[in-house]
Amino acid sequence: MSSKYQPVIGLEVHAVLETRSKMFCSCPVVDSTIGEPNIAVCPVCSGMPGMLPVINEAAVEYAVRVALALNCKINLTSIFARKSYFYPDLPKGFQISQYEQPLAQNGWLDIETADGEQRVAIRRVHIEEDTGKLTHVEKGGQRYSLVDLNRSGVPLLEIVTEPELHSVEAVRNCAYALRSILRYVGVNSGNLEKGLMRIEPNISIRPIGSSEFGTRAEIKNLNSFRSLERATTYELARQEQLVESGGRVVQQTMGWDDARGTTLAQRSKEVAEDYRYFPEPDLPPLVLEKAWVEKIRKSLPELPHARRERFVATFGLKPYDADVIVAEREVADFYETAVAAAKVADAKLIANWLTGALFGLMNEAGTEIGELRFGAKQLTALCDQIAGGKVNPAGAREVLGVLFAEGGSPASIIKARGLQQISNTGQLRSWVSEVIAANPQQVAGYLAGNAPLLNFLFGQVMQKAGGKANPAAVRSELQAQLDASAK
Ligand SMILES: [Zn+2]
Repeated sequence: MSSKYQPVIGLEVHAVLETRSKMFCSCPVVDSTIGEPNIAVCPVCSGMPGMLPVINEAAVEYAVRVALALNCKINLTSIFARKSYFYPDLPKGFQISQYEQPLAQNGWLDIETADGEQRVAIRRVHIEEDTGKLTHVEKGGQRYSLVDLNRSGVPLLEIVTEPELHSVEAVRNCAYALRSILRYVGVNSGNLEKGLMRIEPNISIRPIGSSEFGTRAEIKNLNSFRSLERATTYELARQEQLVESGGRVVQQTMGWDDARGTTLAQRSKEVAEDYRYFPEPDLPPLVLEKAWVEKIRKSLPELPHARRERFVATFGLKPYDADVIVAEREVADFYETAVAAAKVADAKLIANWLTGALFGLMNEAGTEIGELRFGAKQLTALCDQIAGGKVNPAGAREVLGVLFAEGGSPASIIKARGLQQISNTGQLRSWVSEVIAANPQQVAGYLAGNAPLLNFLFGQVMQKAGGKANPAAVRSELQAQLDASAK
């Protein structure tokens, strides 16, 4: 984006509320990306005439949890509405949603941007039901579509931000922050690939300094953070090019072609009137008791942003490291347990080993924190050994590798593998003098001013020690002996 235009972007996020049963019937919510089609279907969610919807209380509670976590005002009375349109995966011919009086509105969410923290306004949060799924098939020269209604009627939460995001980075961080909150309050596992969370940015540009809104285009159903970033970047560039060449952005709905890396016009954007919203006659207004809402408010966990601030203030972590740790509630819990158990290791050392070596192993193997073969206290035990000088970093990485593969206790792994760090001065002194005696040329070079040769000599001592020497002690002994030989 050139410096002539400002991106203006809002997000609409659809999140499945992962309750046991569907929004308006007792069919189970099943993973619609695996297994048999049409196994979780009844007359209500397949749109049979005369069937009556019944509101799922758990889904309402999940929705309230999210709305409160997003600092929204909860409307104690909200109205379900029919949104009429035809689509083969929507057998009723309408979707039950909320329109004029949504469950919640006027909230906010704090995100990080390159220019510091930004408070993004949440326009509304409402409940609706998901549609079924179409699979388009081309087989034996024939083309046809299959309808699977397992997803039809699954509870969905729609979250709409104000168009206040002004960079691709802010868009990404806002989507991350929303996902993190959905996971913290336990309503959604955050899996974009499975369609449990779908992100739709609405994008426009305007000349820098202008306060008017440009015409926006909306990109539908992005199912990864990567495609969110790519599609947003592409669409901003497309609009700028269009405007620069004298064209005009038209209001439309677009799709994202991930393989080609382009947005494609799908249809001219419909306006709300096209859907002929009207109050759902088969459902009463949704009336919540204030006390019930307050009970939910009190039951909310500490949320990622507050936790991050606390980690920075209490543990002295860098904001970035704190972000990485709090993004997942289970990881943050693991970290706090580890820090609380520490005898010698400090919170920063534990954070470094968690986000560095351990995350490295987990990413490589695709392991979640809950699947580890060892607990937080074993990580603490290892960090205590490191901080106490009992094992050096190379040895500690080996111990962590064993913990990761087999579990066990760091102390016994260190013992069994002979990884105890050698800090014994007499032993170190003789290794250092042997290396100095064996490498007269390098020593002379170093003394003549070739400073990097010090690392070579250091490496030789470490090799002699089989990697088990205390690196700091080796460095100071080496320096001392070289200084002495210079005199
Ligand atoms: Zn059903």
